[in-house]
This record gives sequence, C-alpha cells and structure tokens, in this order.
Amino acid sequence: MLRRDFMKRTATLTALLPLSGWNKFMTADKLLFMDADVIKIKLGEYNCTIFRDLTFKYLAKDFFINATEAELTQSLLKYRISPDNIPSPFIALLLENKTRKILVDTGIGFLDEPLVFRGTTYAFKGQLEHLLDQQHITGEEITDVVVTHFHPDHIGGISAGDGKLRFPKARFHMHEEEWSYWHSSRADHEPALFRYFIEKNITPLKNGNLNLFRGDNTEIFSGVTALMAAGHTPGQIALNIKSEHGHLLYISDAFLHPLHLEKLDWRTNYDLDHTLAKQTRIKLAELAYKENMLVNAFHFDFPGLGRIDKVKNVFTWKYSEI
Ligand SMILES: [Zn+2]
Repeated sequence: MLRRDFMKRTATLTALLPLSGWNKFMTADKLLFMDADVIKIKLGEYNCTIFRDLTFKYLAKDFFINATEAELTQSLLKYRISPDNIPSPFIALLLENKTRKILVDTGIGFLDEPLVFRGTTYAFKGQLEHLLDQQHITGEEITDVVVTHFHPDHIGGISAGDGKLRFPKARFHMHEEEWSYWHSSRADHEPALFRYFIEKNITPLKNGNLNLFRGDNTEIFSGVTALMAAGHTPGQIALNIKSEHGHLLYISDAFLHPLHLEKLDWRTNYDLDHTLAKQTRIKLAELAYKENMLVNAFHFDFPGLGRIDKVKNVFTWKYSEI
C-alpha cells in the first residue's frame, strides 16, 4: 500500500467511525491513537507505541535479487511499487506497563551535521527522539532497550554522541550470538559503515548495563520472549509478546517486504545466510498463522501491523485495517 493511500484510507475511516468502532478491526488489540508517525495500541497490560523513525527508499534489485523479471514485474504491480523506489520505514516499538518502559530498536539516529565517511556524505535524520519528546517521554525514563540485531537502522539511536547514551538508565538486551559475531573476524567483510555504527552504538555498552542472553525462546520480561531469527544476521531475534488477550509478534527484519512471505525463496542482498533466513521465515510465519497473532514488521508500510494467512500452502500478508 502506498503511503498516500494509507493516509487517504485512514482519513476516510476516521470520518466514518467513532474511535470505539476501530475495535472491530483490531479484535483483541485496541487502537488508542494514531497519526502519520505514531500509533498506540493496547496489548494486554502493555501500552504499545510504534514510531516511524523515517522512510527509506530501497531498490528491487537488492530486495528481490533472484526473482525472474516476469515474476518481479507482476508482483511489484500488485503492490503498486516501482523497482527503483520501494518505500520502507524504520520503526521503533515502545512497550509500557506499570514498571517498565521498554524500547525495541532505536532507529537510525539523528545527526546535526552530515557524516562524511570514507568520502561519502550521509545525512541521518531519524525522528525517533523528536517523537518521544512529543509523547513527553525522556531518554532517562526508558528502563530497557531491546536490540533485535546490529544493523544501523536498529541501533543508530543508542549513542547521543560524546560517548553518552541517549537512554542512560536503560538495561540493554541483545542476543549473545549477535554480539560475538560482530565483535569477531567473521564480520570483517561487513560494510565499514555498519562496523562504524557498531563501534559507536554497541561496543561501548560492554562496560554498562548489558544483558547478553543466549538460546532460543528466552523470556526477557514478563510475557516478552526472544525467538532466535537468524539468517538476516547470525543473532537476530524476533519478539513474541503475550499479555492477557493481546498477542503480538515483532518480526524485525526476518521479512523485509510482504512479498517475502509469498515468495519464501526470494533472497535479499541484506540477508547474510539465505538458507537460515528462509528457515526463520517459515518458523515465524507458521507461528503467526497458527496463533492468529498480530504481527509487527519493521520494514513494511507504517505501522507494519497485520496478520499472516496461508492459502494452498502459500503465506500471504494482510495489513491491519488501521
Ligand atoms: Zn532493518
């Protein structure tokens, strides 16, 4: 769905329905608030806020590297996107209950001055910090930060520059396999810019309040379980969030586009291990389908909420009507 269509549809629905009417679209999960960059839903004991850090433009040749031209043309038409512009947001998810404010992923970060790195200039203008401000949430109030994997769009908001943390009182949770991969020679071939982001945002955490957890199905907080979702990176995690009647699967980058659900064999340039990435896709899609979970996908059209269906053994994605 194109963003303008999303906005148009949202506007139409808002005009037609009183707020309580949204419930029929959200079933167990109640919509509390939304605008173009922020959406709040109730998920059991958790108030969940999804922030749109920014929207990035990807290319079909990187997202679907082994698709045949005919298949690709037909599929892109279905989503009304062109091969040279696949709009894809970066998001962050905030989970709040009585005792914790848990931030899942941190966006790309905001730089006052463009970064000149190895001759290329980058202007990173993520708006997560600004949006948190607007919601009257300070960095000091964040009790926990979960990092699903170490790519720049997920970790760039950790450092406030000058060695300071944007969330100075938070405990940082991440998988031990992700940490050890990026801090070993196995990551030497990775783009220098990625390693720069890690040196700046991740490595300094070793002296701080760090929880490097292991294994699969590891409960980090009450009702919040980390599922191993390797392939995109070696230690990527997804989050299975279950609270009262609310049930949400945060899939991070296991799928970069809804087409990766329909076409499990379509590879991306951003996955490190394609075989593992496919196994992870199947594992998460089966789980979400069987449990009829609400799914939050980091790179799908904002806010990336939807459900997974399976027809004649093919998974499909359906955006939530919000
Ligand atoms: Zn990402």
